[in-house]
Amino acid sequence: MDNTKRTQAGSSMPACALCNASLTPDEIGLSKKLINRGTTVFFCLPCLARRFDVTEDILRDKIRQFREMGCTLFPPA
Ligand SMILES: [Zn+2]
Repeated sequence: MDNTKRTQAGSSMPACALCNASLTPDEIGLSKKLINRGTTVFFCLPCLARRFDVTEDILRDKIRQFREMGCTLFPPA
């Protein structure tokens, strides 16, 4: 059932600190933006939305804005 045992620390993308979902680079970048640049905990979009009391659409919009501004936390796909 649970054969997704944690891989070696630091060798893979971090997972959501709340629900353990695997994260996209966008979600990691947004976590840094919303929490702080040095954060070591990251959240997926649904958990970020709940935590900051906004919709996921608003967060996706923000990601787009940050990327258009050329923010280095959001490398072009
Ligand atoms: Zn989550």
